[in-house]
Amino acid sequence: MVEQAADPVAEREVVLRATGIRKRFGPNEVLKGVDLTVLRGEVLCIIGPSGSGKSTLLRSLNHLEEIDGGRVELDGELIGYRRRGHRYVTLPGKQLAAQRARVGMVFQSFNLFPHMTVLQNIVESPVGVLKQPVREATATAMALLERVGLESKADAYPRQLSGGQQQRVAIARALAMKPRLVLFDEPTSALDPELVGEVLEVMKDLARDGLTMVVVTHEMGFAREVADTVLFMDGGIAVERGRPEDVLLNPRQARTKDFLAKVL
Ligand code: ADP
Ligand code: MG
Repeated sequence: MVEQAADPVAEREVVLRATGIRKRFGPNEVLKGVDLTVLRGEVLCIIGPSGSGKSTLLRSLNHLEEIDGGRVELDGELIGYRRRGHRYVTLPGKQLAAQRARVGMVFQSFNLFPHMTVLQNIVESPVGVLKQPVREATATAMALLERVGLESKADAYPRQLSGGQQQRVAIARALAMKPRLVLFDEPTSALDPELVGEVLEVMKDLARDGLTMVVVTHEMGFAREVADTVLFMDGGIAVERGRPEDVLLNPRQARTKDFLAKVL
């Protein structure tokens, strides 16, 4: 057997590659050709003003939006693309569903099923989509609840939990699918200020553990501390990206400077 030296670049393979993503709603061009690469274990934080296209970008990455141009590759597999004047092309339904199941999504508004207990919320997709045996899915769910500090709430209903607790359940639910990548869309924006910290702590813990994450956030402290890369979006364009200390503390672009002056 030939021994190969470990190549750190090769080891950090590309999980997600989006190229030239375009999206319009009627006359409103919301994404004007955005490129994005996420490496395994990377935490990418996306910042930018309201209406700049951050949510639309996340939704496009997860195929919740049909893009008008560009391509999205996950784990080296093309999941969707569109060339100008051509139809939107995706993987066949089953393969697309399989790829989408490998991308977790956590929304601002938690989106738990209100009529299901915490445990039922978490096991639903692993059992229904991944066809895991209920016992196995339950054991995984309980371990995840412990991870987010809510093992005592397994039988509670979402309405019995605080917003911060609900969001921690939503994170556990995303992780139960063993995703390659988790997309977070302003996960703390709907929370009362005193509940933000507990959710950010869980996310920091996941980042330390090597979870690959794309996080749209207004929490500049979190971005500064946890992100490997910060991307600043404005007007449907990826204006500036780099290490957090560069983008947040020494931005090069005037638009980034203006935005940071308002939020920091
Ligand atoms: P952000 O998340 O950065 O605040 P969004 O991606 O939500 O920005 O929105 C970008 C722009 O796209 C906004 O002008 C918004 O009104 C518009 N938009 C988003 N979703 C839709 C939709 N489903 N239909 C029409 N316009 C939309
Ligand atoms: Mg948004």
